[in-house]
Amino acid sequence: MRATFANIYLDNIRHNISEIRRLIPSGTMICVPVKADAYGHGAVPVARVAVECGAEYLAVATVAEGAALRSAGIAVPVLVLSLPHPSELAEVVEQGLVPAVQDEEFIRLLGSEAEARRRTISVHLKVDTGMGRIGCVPGEAVRLADMVASSRWLSLGGMFTHLPVPDSASPDDEAFTAGQLSLFGDVVSAVRAAGISPGICHAASSAAVLRYPEASLDMVRPGLAVYGYYPGDVDASFLDGIRRPVLLKPAMELRTTVVAVRRVRKGQSVSYGRTWIAPEDCDIGVLPLGYADGLLRHYGGHVKVTINGRAFPLCGRICMDQCMVCLGNGSGVSRWDEAVVFGPRELGSAQDASGIACAAGTIPYEITCGVNRRVPRVYKNP
Ligand SMILES: *Cc1c(COP(=O)(O)O)cnc(C)c1O
Repeated sequence: MRATFANIYLDNIRHNISEIRRLIPSGTMICVPVKADAYGHGAVPVARVAVECGAEYLAVATVAEGAALRSAGIAVPVLVLSLPHPSELAEVVEQGLVPAVQDEEFIRLLGSEAEARRRTISVHLKVDTGMGRIGCVPGEAVRLADMVASSRWLSLGGMFTHLPVPDSASPDDEAFTAGQLSLFGDVVSAVRAAGISPGICHAASSAAVLRYPEASLDMVRPGLAVYGYYPGDVDASFLDGIRRPVLLKPAMELRTTVVAVRRVRKGQSVSYGRTWIAPEDCDIGVLPLGYADGLLRHYGGHVKVTINGRAFPLCGRICMDQCMVCLGNGSGVSRWDEAVVFGPRELGSAQDASGIACAAGTIPYEITCGVNRRVPRVYKNP
């Protein structure tokens, strides 16, 4: 196997799902987003664990992601969160995926594909209550719900909306989220009042699941929390503060191996651009991972690699396939020692993806999603 690999601790995913289950009212369903290869963790293994833990739904972004779950024999309903291209609708129907719908043209196209295949498909109507991305305007929801419900080949399996700021602790953002939830509630009531069953209603991504019990509705869609990270301001101490303590455990651990230890003299430079000059004679460890593996160049100064329980900073620019770590003197690190780039702190890593993200001005989503396919995943506790 490659000297660089990612351990995926499936037990941590199981633990995170059970933490989420504990927070939501009993009877609330869980939809686990496994889009983007389960945020880099591997869609099929994560989907299997999610289903084993009782998740009733999975969610993907693309039709191909949904089809891959079906090919792996996963049979639970799979919500397609983004809008596909019309040429993909035949596959939506054939694979029995549950697309988000938001407009008349799309509903009509989908209806014809379903009719052509003599297959009824369930859809979820997306309502834009303030995300400003996809979804119908609230005033059109009844008409569109009726269009779905009265189509012979479509059924209204659910209605949903998405929140742009559930992870923010600012009072304005909290008020915005409350306004969205109340608007969505009104839209669902209007659909009911028109004699149409809205199906499964859902609104909450991780942050809302963790902090707003009133956002759970019929189903929740926590992604990030399942992978073990707290969203934005909604961290462990925030949750303690609102008496909803939650312990999330990161599931991914990015590991590599010191493939060479080299002695550099004071004044010698390391890597492209010669941005790092040895301040004294010291040892440098070479690690076989770089930006093509997802360790982006701008993370450089923020990454501390743990080797034999000690944290060392990277030095010099991260290259496409390699990077260097400054070992100083007398580190005791030798060639072929394993190095942890990020992972669960309780397993000895100096930082998790959220630590790098915070320091590098990005979000943990981007760090785990960025770990390239070239990095083999090793599944622990399958
Ligand atoms: C990705 C996504 C989620 C999950 O969001 P997290 O912040 O990872 O919990 C939920 N709903 C929609 C519509 C999404 O696109």
